[in-house]
Amino acid sequence: MIIDCHGHYTTAPAAHDVWRNAQMAAFKAGGDPDPAYPAISDDEIRDTIERNQLRLLRDRGADMTIFSPRASTMAHHVGNEDVSQAWTRRCNDLIKRVVDLFPETFVGVCQLPQSPGVPISHSVAELERCVTGLGFIGCNLNPDPSGGHWSGPPLTDRAWYPFFEKLVELDVPAMVHVSGSCNVNFHATGAHYINADTTAFMQFLEGDLFRDFPTLRFIIPHGGGAVPYHWGRYRGLADMLKRPPLAEHVMRNVFFDTCVYHQPGIDLLFRVIDVDNILFGSEMVGAVRGIDPETGFPFDDTKRYIDALPIPDADKRKGRGSKPGHT
Ligand SMILES: [Zn+2]
Repeated sequence: MIIDCHGHYTTAPAAHDVWRNAQMAAFKAGGDPDPAYPAISDDEIRDTIERNQLRLLRDRGADMTIFSPRASTMAHHVGNEDVSQAWTRRCNDLIKRVVDLFPETFVGVCQLPQSPGVPISHSVAELERCVTGLGFIGCNLNPDPSGGHWSGPPLTDRAWYPFFEKLVELDVPAMVHVSGSCNVNFHATGAHYINADTTAFMQFLEGDLFRDFPTLRFIIPHGGGAVPYHWGRYRGLADMLKRPPLAEHVMRNVFFDTCVYHQPGIDLLFRVIDVDNILFGSEMVGAVRGIDPETGFPFDDTKRYIDALPIPDADKRKGRGSKPGHT
């Protein structure tokens, strides 16, 4: 079974986004941050999935997608905590409806109601609701809810610990995933995402998080940001900073996905990173749409790159058929 560990509902019915706009307008006007939600029919949801994610999944030969709300519009920096809480619940409930309509194909991962300066403990209840109540198997954790200004503490800071304790208790992983950028220096998917992936890894290297949480698991998406390409730099920094070797210090707890969108990048990823730390992912329909003129195939048809790897089939099955902690 081929499981895509990284899919977003980027094609949600328009009424969902209309509600979000109404919510933001209400917030600005000092009104209710949780206005009445529109009726969206099962057929509308079915249509948005069948024409997009499900069609592509079948065309490309994968079986299942671990599915979360659109990441770029989590926008934790917008509004305040009440706005984030209400928006997050609406987004997660919509994912639950997709999962219920296509239970063989989609598994839910939740957005979190983070907000800049608000303790992460305020996101614990929504995580618990989604995992124990809705059957979701993980969350997208934003290491920078400010949207590109990095005003909060690093992931290794004790301020995050109440949330990590809950992840461990529920035995679910978090994907490190920022949202939109409100810093004009950082394009969201081209710079902010990749910066955050790289930053999270370096924070794990500098800190001792996995000594305190030996069973905590993170997926660093987008191929691990710049990390695999600079693997020698990080191994060298671990040595210089008197940290244990990365294999034991970080890589028992961290997994990278395959969303790098070209063959040489996948070749490098698999050459540098142990196959047990790589999860199949495509982030579709997502960050880079369109056809690669050099290959004639969509950039985000990541299975094609895995298929072309000169590695044993058993290793390919590991990379695309497993997710940390679950079979
Ligand atoms: Zn993503």
